[in-house]
Amino acid sequence: MIDQTNSPFKIVLLGDSSVGKSSLVLRLCQDKFVENLEPTIGGSCIIQNIEIEESEVKLKIWDTAGQERFHSLTPLYYRGAKGAVIVYDISNFESFERAKDWILELRENGESDSKIVLVGNKIDLETKAVEDTTAQKFADKNGLLFFETSAKTGEFVNQIFLALAKLLLGKN
Ligand code: GDP
Repeated sequence: MIDQTNSPFKIVLLGDSSVGKSSLVLRLCQDKFVENLEPTIGGSCIIQNIEIEESEVKLKIWDTAGQERFHSLTPLYYRGAKGAVIVYDISNFESFERAKDWILELRENGESDSKIVLVGNKIDLETKAVEDTTAQKFADKNGLLFFETSAKTGEFVNQIFLALAKLLLGKN
């Protein structure tokens, strides 16, 4: 078993404002959904244990506290990140286009080998502006894992972090 007592894997959430980053963290950690979540509620860094087979993986999940709105994420935010969850809103095509910029930003400022999961959130909504096949193609081309989720209903939220934890343990 891997002993991570002193060094949980740092995971950063990235993506445009309002795509649901804080809501995904809240769903993962407390299995809750709150409409109009205050930035201060989500904006934080949370330790979460993920169980994989016989092992327990500790993730230290960093959320942006809304600074992405002002394009002011500091290098410290990216530093040492072993994994990243890049989120877009499936009802907002621009947020998908911007996800590509966030990936570049991570590559420039983060660790060269950080693992990335691309997440299309809000699949509970009727309006679909980004086809899953389009996003899947983009993910395949860039070697990313891809999930569509809903922080509202909880669908596939755990899978994001489980898949990341497995990647970090080299179990995928
Ligand atoms: P952030 O700025 O990326 O952290 O986004 P938030 O988590 O604050 O969410 C922005 C808004 O989208 C809030 O009003 C949330 O309630 C809503 N939201 C987040 N996730 C979902 C989802 O999966 N489905 C729906 N319908 N709304 C969501």
